Amino acid sequence: MNKKFIIGIDLGGTNLKVALLDLNYHIKDKEILSTRSFMEKDQLISGIVRAVNRFIKYNNLSKAEIMGIGLGLPGPTDAKSGTVHFFPNIPGWKEVKLRNILKEKLGLPVFLDNDAKLMTTAEHKLGAARGFNNVLCMTLGTGIGGGLIINGKLYRGFDNAAGEVGHVPINENGSSCNCGASGCLEAYVGNRKIALDAKKAFKRNITLEELSALADKHNKVALEVWRKTGSHLGFALAGVVNLLNLDAIVIGGGVAKAGKVLFDNINNALKAQAMSVQAKRVKVLKAKLGNEAGIIGAAIMVKEGL
Ligand SMILES: [Zn+2]
Repeated sequence: MNKKFIIGIDLGGTNLKVALLDLNYHIKDKEILSTRSFMEKDQLISGIVRAVNRFIKYNNLSKAEIMGIGLGLPGPTDAKSGTVHFFPNIPGWKEVKLRNILKEKLGLPVFLDNDAKLMTTAEHKLGAARGFNNVLCMTLGTGIGGGLIINGKLYRGFDNAAGEVGHVPINENGSSCNCGASGCLEAYVGNRKIALDAKKAFKRNITLEELSALADKHNKVALEVWRKTGSHLGFALAGVVNLLNLDAIVIGGGVAKAGKVLFDNINNALKAQAMSVQAKRVKVLKAKLGNEAGIIGAAIMVKEGL
């Protein structure tokens, strides 16, 4: 029977998204489950199996119509052996051969990779990075994920760990970071830090959405918080473009919703700091595929193989 569908799965710190896609990467059906109900590893695995089987049943599919299952995962993984090394924000996962486990339980081909790498693939093939050859894609949120396209292809590095732009050091004497080092970009522009800066500036709790709304209304205090954030980002990205001579940087994730005020400040700091040839070449763009990038990237991985 002809293969007609792909199942894409995006596991995050709070949500598990499972989607049915056609071979043109259009999402036909989607289910979002809270990750909190699966504190145990085995529960999470059976949650994935149940969701996939439900899709197959409710959409009257046969397994023969499904090309395979692609998973995007929030941590370092070995895409070749199908192993999860660990998840920084979900305890209990260490060197888990997830691909083999799921393949056996579901009887379908399974592919898996790090979520930032899949987002990068999706933005490069179908989103904002389309047509660019040397690209950094980054997601700004609680953590900062990243992936690199070099000469038109995903660049993995020796241990499949390339692209960690959140852990580019920007201050030798800087604040400590979740990765165990200090002075990393993430310690300055992760959304917890932005919220903390905003709280100090406004002397009350303030959400990032409100901070963006105030900046849109030209509130000086809010503009200054985004200026500082954009400036840290532009400074770090200048180092990246000097090293790699990128033609595009694509930025997504919750923080990127701050929009023009953030992007203007990133551009200003980047152009001021980077070397002239590299600064002139690079375009800083907003990601296009939003929350679906991980799922679409997972489906691309299944269709195109690794
Ligand atoms: Zn770090």
